[in-house]
Amino acid sequence: MADDKSYTISDEGNQLVKQLRERYPNELKNVIPEEIVVMQIEDEPPKSKDWAAKIHIVKGAIKTILTIWKCPAKFYIELYEDEWRAWSNGYRQWVIFHELLHVPDPEASGLVKHDVEDFGVIIDKVGFDWANSPSLPDLLAGAPVEFSQIYLKRLQGSPKKQERPEDIKLVE
Ligand SMILES: [Zn+2]
Repeated sequence: MADDKSYTISDEGNQLVKQLRERYPNELKNVIPEEIVVMQIEDEPPKSKDWAAKIHIVKGAIKTILTIWKCPAKFYIELYEDEWRAWSNGYRQWVIFHELLHVPDPEASGLVKHDVEDFGVIIDKVGFDWANSPSLPDLLAGAPVEFSQIYLKRLQGSPKKQERPEDIKLVE
């Protein structure tokens, strides 16, 4: 719940959203960087938590906070600041990229659901266990990563199936 956490806006996270959108206009075609805000939770992460980041539609208490902050976002990605600091650049990129794939077509409501355990378009490139990979491809340096257009089309072609947010499940 939004009301028992302390949030700050992550400028680094927002910057990454922008960079990824610029670099992957096809994969992230639904993403309008101005509509997304990355919020870091300042509190200590709970031990029982099994997600790295979560994207939500802005409403309720968060909407009130963001209105006060004059931040007109439609979606927010929440993550824990302590964890963000500990993540490699590669992991940060893939976590944010993953969350951005949840952003729906403007015609659809809700968020895009995972097509498999994760997103097929991600697993196809970095495998199910990417959260534990020591060598994630850099999404921003060098040539853009070439994602499977088949998986992408499948994911983006079914706006009716879009539903509630899903968390990234970390492999333990
Ligand atoms: Zn997800």
